[in-house]
Amino acid sequence: MKITVAGAGYVGLVTSACLAELGHQVTCIDIQKEKIDLLQNNRLPIYEPGLRQLLAKNLQNGKLVFTVAPHLAYSNTEIIFIAVGTPEKSGGSVELKYIDEAAQQIAHYIENDVIICTKSTVPVGTNDLIKQIIDNQKAPTLRAEVVSNPEFLREGSAVHDFFHGDRIVIGTDNLEAASILKKLYQPLDIPVIITDIRSAEMIKYASNAFLATKISFINEISNICQKVGADIDEVAFGIGHDKRIGHDFLKAGIGYGGSCFPKDTKALLGLANDVEHHFDLLEAVINVNNFQQSLPVLLAKETIGSLQGKKVALLGLAFKPNTDDIRGSASIRIVNELLKEGAIVRAYDPAAIPNAQCILGDRIEYAYNLRFALHEAELAIIATDWAQIKDAPLGVYQSFMKDPIVIDGRNCYSLKEIQKHSLTYLSIGRRYIF
Ligand code: NAD
Repeated sequence: MKITVAGAGYVGLVTSACLAELGHQVTCIDIQKEKIDLLQNNRLPIYEPGLRQLLAKNLQNGKLVFTVAPHLAYSNTEIIFIAVGTPEKSGGSVELKYIDEAAQQIAHYIENDVIICTKSTVPVGTNDLIKQIIDNQKAPTLRAEVVSNPEFLREGSAVHDFFHGDRIVIGTDNLEAASILKKLYQPLDIPVIITDIRSAEMIKYASNAFLATKISFINEISNICQKVGADIDEVAFGIGHDKRIGHDFLKAGIGYGGSCFPKDTKALLGLANDVEHHFDLLEAVINVNNFQQSLPVLLAKETIGSLQGKKVALLGLAFKPNTDDIRGSASIRIVNELLKEGAIVRAYDPAAIPNAQCILGDRIEYAYNLRFALHEAELAIIATDWAQIKDAPLGVYQSFMKDPIVIDGRNCYSLKEIQKHSLTYLSIGRRYIF
């Protein structure tokens, strides 16, 4: 099929490359010329495992093309995926201007009947607005069916998730559109859920809110464990065996981050407020996460006292491993708090340094390997459990730091292992070792 994807970000790019890999003719359009220039030259603007190979192969065989020109992208296509950003506005509501602009461009440039699928995460009711924009502005003879098709891929395993997701949700009451999309996704052998548009939009928010709730729940239990002498990893293992609970998303740490959970939980809270429902539970989830992200610096101050002039190695800048995305990352907050306390920060991350530099500039130093980050540091904070960090032998802390104090925000090491080394080690929801 001829497919257009609007947006060459984490979702749009992965969707484009994977649909091309399935044999479709895909045009990916973005408003950022620098991104499109890079992609046309077989260079990725983001770090995402497995994407490089798909890009190279499908650029070469002509299945995947990139453009900034809306007439090329929209005038001769059968399915359009909208995957533009829906970032958080100040106050927590959702910025829909990119959605609005994309819808207007689509309406203006389509020249044949199309199905328009919204992959972007949008508040309930937004697809009705998209439909209004398109119906009002398109040529009256053309049919444009707007469908909600929320995206569930996870950064860091997005290519895998495209091919092996748990479900595909299609929100439409148009049987023809539903059947065309079912056929498009058929080779993936993933369960397809057909529902109405508003329920599809809500499924996305409810899924993210539920996962965020699981994380905040285990983090709250971890804070109690630490105080009563229980071990959160043992507790999570024990409760995860209950099939109704499961093991996923029960890892205690310094909270969730990223471009989705923080903004989507706030958006759902706003949506609930708009219909005069006070979502107490979700509000608590967000508050717990805010506290959790503040834990590393609180623990550092409790252990060391003043951080003025202290050399701190911050290990991990990305909001989770295997991505260069720093949006909503606890690390950025930790850096800002450390700097406020007068600490000197040197940060290491295998992929996210260029993105962090755009935000943090030269307020901190950057290390391109773990050892250099630790060199002469007085405190190390583990913020992201990249393999390069969590699998590092504990000896490196002793070899490169002065009297090592390690705050492990991701519980990377077993306490048994820690006891074999001479470290001060504080982790989340477990006994502190001095
Ligand atoms: P992103 O910021 O990485 O990419 C968005 C892209 O859209 C940018 O490159 C931007 O230039 C482009 N864009 C803006 N307006 C455009 C227009 N009119 N035409 C073409 N391109 C345009 O965002 P993302 O992380 O890929 O997320 C996209 C959407 O998917 C969001 O709604 C997000 O909530 C949702 N989502 C994201 C993830 C994730 O893990 N990143 C997962 C599921 C859902």
